[in-house]
Amino acid sequence: GQTVCECYTCYGGIDCSEFSPGCSADADSGDPIFLEPFWMQKAEDSAIVVSGWHRMSYSYAGYTSMSTMSLEVEKYIHKIHSIVGNAITEGRYLVFGIGSSQLLSAAVYALSSQNSSSPSNVVATIPYYPMYEAQTLFFNSEDFEFEGDTNSWKLNNATNNMDVIEFVTSPNNPDGELKTSVIGGKTIYDHAYFWPHFTPIPAPSDHDFMIFTLSKLTGHAGARFGWAVIKDKDVYEKVSTYIQVADLGISKDTQLRVLKLLKVAVEDDGKQLFKFAYDKMRQRWDRLTSVFSKSTRFSIQKRDPLHCNFFNETRLPSPAYAWVKCEREEEDDCHAVLEAGKIIGRTGSTYKAKDRYVRLSLIKSQDDFDLLMLRLTELVSLENEFL
Ligand code: PMP
Repeated sequence: GQTVCECYTCYGGIDCSEFSPGCSADADSGDPIFLEPFWMQKAEDSAIVVSGWHRMSYSYAGYTSMSTMSLEVEKYIHKIHSIVGNAITEGRYLVFGIGSSQLLSAAVYALSSQNSSSPSNVVATIPYYPMYEAQTLFFNSEDFEFEGDTNSWKLNNATNNMDVIEFVTSPNNPDGELKTSVIGGKTIYDHAYFWPHFTPIPAPSDHDFMIFTLSKLTGHAGARFGWAVIKDKDVYEKVSTYIQVADLGISKDTQLRVLKLLKVAVEDDGKQLFKFAYDKMRQRWDRLTSVFSKSTRFSIQKRDPLHCNFFNETRLPSPAYAWVKCEREEEDDCHAVLEAGKIIGRTGSTYKAKDRYVRLSLIKSQDDFDLLMLRLTELVSLENEFL
């Protein structure tokens, strides 16, 4: 009989080996598949086998205790932060969530003023990750309200000492900037990208509320695992309550897998994983900057070198996304301009920026990235055709 094969996008033919010449480069999603080759090299070391009888309980310490977090996983989270030097976690509380996504809303809940007459104001700095706004609106509470951009909030509320919860995304999605707080009140530091793959690590972060995710550390976005590092006991207890009420804690199967992955990640003091990840990102940025250096029509974000304590040298950042700007006055819909050149990005307005900007993901598979480079090269060479 004949087998019907489902090919990856851009490939067709009987054995999926034929490249479709008119195919668009899809640089839309932030799926971190660039790390797949690392885990292929570690296929056996990183594998887990789970017997049918294993980890059936709701909790770790038997059927009465309420501990739903693996102490071993906690230990390895402390370990990876101390190896990398990106966060102070000793003496801090940890809470696990279903991805860091769940912890973002748990954080807003925990930091909002309950029983107050007016809701806490949730803000972030443009361009910001749209999930903050989406969640705050979706979970529609009397205790918090999304108020948009920090800088306009500050202008409009200069004299009021109001209750603010500020998301600080550092490095930022979409532009990779190492952000600090604008308002200076209660903050949630989203450190999803604060790993040596994407940025030099200048110093360990030591904020009251920090959020990390496995998705952008090892690339296992599908495992849905994130953690919060929290200073204050009351805040910690509220976040814990949120997770208990929402899910009775997160999957033990996921925690088992996380443990195995972290054990491989900390081998050789993290040198293998972080070297692989950084080298891959640096190669991609080298190719990207070489294409954009030939363009006056398009530009990308400026990168400034910083000392990285992990690699112990000064390096340029290698962000997960290119933040592209269309420079020509009339080209104020940059997404459409790129789309006509067979490149799919994400519009600037997704991040409440102008549509003169587009985000391109640089963390997808090598095939995706190679096709992106091909389409960008074609587009930029058109600029110079008539010179
Ligand atoms: N924060 C930022 C800034 C992100 O870009 C993402 C995902 N792309 C997340 C949080 C959520 O990731 P996850 O739920 O997979 O941990």
